[in-house]
Amino acid sequence: MVQDMIKQKIAGSLLALCVVASLFNSTYTVSASEPAESVHAIVPKTSKASSKSIKLSWTSADDASVKYYYVMRRGTKDSKGTGTWKTLTKIKSDGKAGGPANTYTDKLKSSAPQQFEYKICTADAAVDTRGQAYRDETDKYAVLGTNIKVCIDPGHYGTRNNNYDQKGKNGEHPYSEAQFALKIGKALQEELKHTYGIDSYMTRTTSRISLTYNGKTYTNEKLDQGNISVRGYMAKTKECDFFISLHTNATGRKKNPWNQPKSLNKVYIFVNSTAHNSSRGIKIANSIGAELTAYNQASGIQSAGFEARSRKKAAGFTNLKNDSYNENGTVIYRKGSSGSDYYGVLRGASAKGVEGMIVEHAYHVTGIMREKADASSDLYQNWAACDAYGIAKGFGFITSRRS
Ligand SMILES: [Zn+2]
Repeated sequence: MVQDMIKQKIAGSLLALCVVASLFNSTYTVSASEPAESVHAIVPKTSKASSKSIKLSWTSADDASVKYYYVMRRGTKDSKGTGTWKTLTKIKSDGKAGGPANTYTDKLKSSAPQQFEYKICTADAAVDTRGQAYRDETDKYAVLGTNIKVCIDPGHYGTRNNNYDQKGKNGEHPYSEAQFALKIGKALQEELKHTYGIDSYMTRTTSRISLTYNGKTYTNEKLDQGNISVRGYMAKTKECDFFISLHTNATGRKKNPWNQPKSLNKVYIFVNSTAHNSSRGIKIANSIGAELTAYNQASGIQSAGFEARSRKKAAGFTNLKNDSYNENGTVIYRKGSSGSDYYGVLRGASAKGVEGMIVEHAYHVTGIMREKADASSDLYQNWAACDAYGIAKGFGFITSRRS
C-alpha cells in the first residue's frame, strides 16, 4: 500500500510531463484526424458546491477557438474513472478568450458521498472531441470531483513545540511541531484533491492562525488559549463533512525529553464523540492508524503495531500509556471532566455534529522521527497520503484495498 502510494504520487507529478512528451514521442500514433492537435488541454477545477452538488470551473482561454464545451461525467471505482462517459450539458463559448471562467454545477440526486470523474470536451466547426478518436487524449485532462469537503487543521501555530533551545543529543535535528503540521496539511490538501477529488478548507496556511467566528476574530494565542474550539467550529462554518487536526506527539517524561528511543513511537488517533459513535468515523480512524503504522514501520521509525477499535469501543487515555515504550498505537476516545471531549478542537467539531479526529503521527521527541523529518520531503508527503487514504476509505471512495 505504501509502495502504491509512492508510485501514485510519482505518476501524478509526472503526468503533465508525459502529456507533453507523448505529443513528440515517435512511437505515438497520430490517427487520420490527428486528435492530439484538435484537443484542448482543459483541466477543470472541481469543488463541493453543496451536499447535493459539485461545481466545475475551467478557464476561458480557449473560448476564441471553441464553439461549444461539453461537460462529461463518468463513475469511478477505487478513485479511478471507469465506464462510459455521459454528456451532462453543452455550454456555448462566448467566442472571446479571457473573461470569467466557464462554470457548471452538477446537481446530484442525493447527499450521500459521491465521486465522479469529469472532463471537458469541445466542438468547433470541424471536430467534436467526444468522438472515440479523441478519447485517450481528452481522458488525460480528466479530474475527480466529490460532494465531500474536509476541514484540515494543522496543529498549533508559529514555531510551537520546538527543540530550538535544546543542546547535545536533545537538540539534534531541529524541529517544530507547528511547522511540520503545516507541511503535512498542505500535502494533505493536495493529495485529497488530486487522488480522490475531495475538497478541503485549511484553518491556517501560514505560521499564523486567525479565525473569525460569530463576528469575532481570534489570532494565535487568543485562539489557542481559551478559544481553541473555534478551530473545530470552522468545520461547520466552512460546510465540511469531516475534521482532522494534524499533530506529532510528545512525552511527559522529564529525563532526556527530546532524546527518546524509537520504542516510544506509536500512532494515536483521538476521535471526538461524534466520530466515536459513527461507524464511518471509526473506519476512518482505523484506516489512518493502520496506514500510518505500516508506513512508520517500513520507514524504520517505529516497531510497535496498531490495534483497531470498534464503534463506541475506543481505548481510554492515560499518561502512562502515552509515555510507554513498546506499546501498540490505537484509537482513543478521551473524555474531559465535564463528560464532553477533552480536547478543545474536538469538542468544537462535536458541538457542530462533525466527525473529527486528532492524528498523532509519531513522537517528535524521538531523534529517529526528527531525523526522518529532516532528511527529505518523504515523511510529511507519505503521512499526508496515509491520512488521505483513510479519509477516502471512510467515505467509500476506496473499497477494494487493504486496511
Ligand atoms: Zn500537538
